[in-house]
Amino acid sequence: MTNRILPFITLVFLSTLFSIVIGDDGVAISEQYPLVVSTWPFKEAVRAAWRAVDGNHSAVDAVVEGCSACEELRCDGTVGPGGSPDENGETTIDALIMNGVTMEVGAVAAMRFVKDGIRAAKLVMQHTKHTLLVGEKASAFAIAMGLPGPDNLSSADSIRKWSTWKENHCQPNFWKDVVPSDSCGPYHAKARIDVKEGGCSTRYLMGVAEPRSSLVGPHNHDTISMAVIDKRGHVAVGTSTNGATYKIPGRVGDGPIAGSSAYAVTDSGACVATGDGDIMMRFLPCYQVVESMRLGMEPRLAAKDAISRIARKFPDFLGAVVAINKNGVHAGACHGWTFEYSVRSPATDDVEVFTVLP
Ligand code: ASP
Repeated sequence: MTNRILPFITLVFLSTLFSIVIGDDGVAISEQYPLVVSTWPFKEAVRAAWRAVDGNHSAVDAVVEGCSACEELRCDGTVGPGGSPDENGETTIDALIMNGVTMEVGAVAAMRFVKDGIRAAKLVMQHTKHTLLVGEKASAFAIAMGLPGPDNLSSADSIRKWSTWKENHCQPNFWKDVVPSDSCGPYHAKARIDVKEGGCSTRYLMGVAEPRSSLVGPHNHDTISMAVIDKRGHVAVGTSTNGATYKIPGRVGDGPIAGSSAYAVTDSGACVATGDGDIMMRFLPCYQVVESMRLGMEPRLAAKDAISRIARKFPDFLGAVVAINKNGVHAGACHGWTFEYSVRSPATDDVEVFTVLP
């Protein structure tokens, strides 16, 4: 009996010293939590997540509430239905959720006809042994599991954007080394020419690649990537996005890739990211950030390090990460643009927006 009571008395005693609260399930709850962090000034999304986590819901549930609010509000016109059309004028959704305690992940990619990206991702995590479902099969799964659909994900805004782009000869686009390069497809691989160099034959591609910055700017793609630490210190992350505008149909960006757009390990911390997903997913920047923090790096350095690894190879990429350690200390780093992120914690009465300079 004494063996069972002593630890409890010790915990109650410590709680008076370190402002720890004992939850219903006997788990110690620290008052430095909860914490909600989101890419961009998506204040309503952060408030929605805060309401959930402050009301004692889990980090996972708060992430769902937050990202779902952004999908409903169509944050920046690039999250939820009706944003970023692909080359065919269609809007699709990439979303991810990760539980940093269990390391379970659920994700959907290039999902059509279903508006609820983050809820579909959570269904994958909760009710399957898989991690990622894609395309129409992801939609069929989500609808079979009870989400509304099939719905047309286009909006007046996405159709207008797409028509203007068509009138502009489908420029800019994500093709390279193809003909025609200055109008719409179908595209073919550009002819190669052989050039003799010192008796050896070298193959060259004709044409000059378009700078990426013309494709991936602040107004043609965005992701809500959100991290929550709940009152028990449990960490979860989630993302939702339409991906890049005018992408080649079938393209999946970093949004549904764990370790790229977001990552969480409860004992180390979390990371959220946004930017040029085609480039960023090659570096798994959020995995890098969380792993660096696990090895003892401060959030600011971990964030900067992850961004500079990408910038060294792709100096014109646009992107940003926010590192959040297990104590709730956060810091952002970005490249190619000025980045903002939002935070709600017990230290403030409402959402605070932080600006990060490249
Ligand atoms: N990373 C997303 C993508 O490339 C878009 C963004 O965050 O801006 O799909």
